[in-house]
Amino acid sequence: MNISRLARAIAESPTFALNEEARILRERGEPVINMSIGEPKNKTPITAILSSATKLSGGDIKYTPPDGTPSLKKAIIRYTEENYNKIVAPENVIISSGAKQSIFNILYSILNPQDEVIILAPHWVSYPEMVKMVYGIPVIVTPEDGTFHPRMEDIERAVSSYTKAIIVNSPNNPSGEVFSQEFIAQVVEFCERKKIFLIMDDIYHKLVFDGAIWEPAYKYTKADIENTMVIVVNGVAKLYGMTGFRIGWVVTNRKLVEVMTNVQGQMTSCTSALLQSAAEGALNGMQSIVENLRLTFQNNKQVVVQELRSFKGVRLIPPKGTFYALPDFRAYLPSSLANDSVELSKVILKKALVVTVPGKEFGMEGHLRLSYAGSVKDIKEGIERIKWVLDPTSPNEIYIGDRKLVRDWL
Ligand code: PMP
Repeated sequence: MNISRLARAIAESPTFALNEEARILRERGEPVINMSIGEPKNKTPITAILSSATKLSGGDIKYTPPDGTPSLKKAIIRYTEENYNKIVAPENVIISSGAKQSIFNILYSILNPQDEVIILAPHWVSYPEMVKMVYGIPVIVTPEDGTFHPRMEDIERAVSSYTKAIIVNSPNNPSGEVFSQEFIAQVVEFCERKKIFLIMDDIYHKLVFDGAIWEPAYKYTKADIENTMVIVVNGVAKLYGMTGFRIGWVVTNRKLVEVMTNVQGQMTSCTSALLQSAAEGALNGMQSIVENLRLTFQNNKQVVVQELRSFKGVRLIPPKGTFYALPDFRAYLPSSLANDSVELSKVILKKALVVTVPGKEFGMEGHLRLSYAGSVKDIKEGIERIKWVLDPTSPNEIYIGDRKLVRDWL
């Protein structure tokens, strides 16, 4: 079959593949613990349900303007004013089917073939693949000091005359790192001086812990909305636990919104009217939902930190936000059990039925990403099971579901 070489080269989304594996195992009745997917467990905010239910029962679900409904745009403009201290116009906003589509649309709209995009490792799995999908070249920049925090000097070294954009994601998936205000100020100044687009993926921006501070990149730009190089991406998936509603948005200059609107108009026509009304309900409703999620994840983070502290050989830089941790398992690699993080993740799944995501997918080989969006019970049991697989000092018998298993490989 003569399928596109480019399309064939695009990797499967590993997080979705692993999530599917977990689902199949669970359906078979296996006591699997899924620490792979980035998805809050809360119920949909009631205001989102009511808003979309009203829309649905009206029976008038039609096309919307390609860039989004005026009423959701209004809610996003207010959100931007409250959270970003920035007043923007409806022409500065475009709504898409999830922040994922928003980012794809940005890349499609700004890149020429062979343009380079700087991606800061550890990075979200989709950035490099999306850049490749629009014939761009991902340039991965990894901090050389063993931390998860990017450094301007590393970025400056990676910038070339082909650099078109830098993607910054703070709070960060997969590390949970929140980038310093000093760094954000520097990267904004750098991008505006060099005329490089700065794509701020702010999808986790309110999920910060223990007094850590997230501040919008806008704070550091001297340019107005029509001239700044900052492009803001946000959505309802993570802060409101509305992953299945698929609503994301971009705030940027009118010219880019216009181009992105044409692209979207030809690709999907528009984002679902029903789901836009749900997002509107969430943005206009009680915001204590977000704070409750933040408190839950902050508590869960503490549990992860505590449980991993007693895990010999595993190093963890405590997350400052999101609901992910990226512990370093290199003490267990390579070993008789596994050579790399992909194998390690498979061994842990096979022996202990815990789903993790290999660090290799995020540009951090030797690590595993653990999502702590689940229950405290699952987090504790998940880490105990991983310990049982790897750590010879942990008890060599364990109950997984109602099966008693004995470790005979260490
Ligand atoms: N950016 C990052 C860093 C993410 O982790 C995710 C979701 N995993 C997205 C964007 C996409 O969000 P959405 O579900 O709105 O497409």
